[in-house]
Amino acid sequence: MKHPNELLIATRNAGKVAEFARIFADLPLRLRGLAEFSVEADAEETGETFAENATLKAEFYGARAGIPTLADDSGLEVEALGGAPGVLSARYAGTNASDRQRIERLLRELETTGDDERRARFVCVIALTFPQTDETELFSGECRGRIIDEPRGGEGFGYDPVFMPEGYSQTFGELPPEIKNRISHRARASAAAARYLRERFGRTA
Ligand code: IMP
Repeated sequence: MKHPNELLIATRNAGKVAEFARIFADLPLRLRGLAEFSVEADAEETGETFAENATLKAEFYGARAGIPTLADDSGLEVEALGGAPGVLSARYAGTNASDRQRIERLLRELETTGDDERRARFVCVIALTFPQTDETELFSGECRGRIIDEPRGGEGFGYDPVFMPEGYSQTFGELPPEIKNRISHRARASAAAARYLRERFGRTA
């Protein structure tokens, strides 16, 4: 029989697994990784919203692993671009492009956009699915800021070097990871999911 309190963290991104493990450390859950299950295929991210994609991923892996499963979907929304790149954040400069190429495209699109109109936000939606009962719960978090006109700093990943969170004068590429991990979209969505899991499973002594 399966241990009742297991949770699959359905991501192939080791950084995300480590981040969730830290946030869920006080929960009586045994966290499992995708590598422990022989799920060869990857869930397709065909949804039009972060919530749809997070749900698709959680339900795809949850159905195969047969235990409660968490998946997230995230991205950057820029106001002057009508919310782009949004759910296409990872594919903004083509499927095999680098972070640097994605940033270059973004800055090109914003070339004629003035400082006041460079508002943006990172969004993260976490889906938690319970295959035994067919329930899926959603949690979201956002981090508001703006896009500056040149990359700064080598921390983080993705669009971090051009994203300056509200209330700071450094980008996510420059700020220490402890600060990003406190105020980021993913930190906020994870904290909401952790509160829910604490209610549902209790807390370790
Ligand atoms: P996914 O949630 O792993 O599909 O990531 C979506 C894409 O959004 C990433 O490849 C990044 O380009 C971007 N993104 C999501 N979260 C962050 C972040 O915290 N910093 C920078 N870029 C991010």
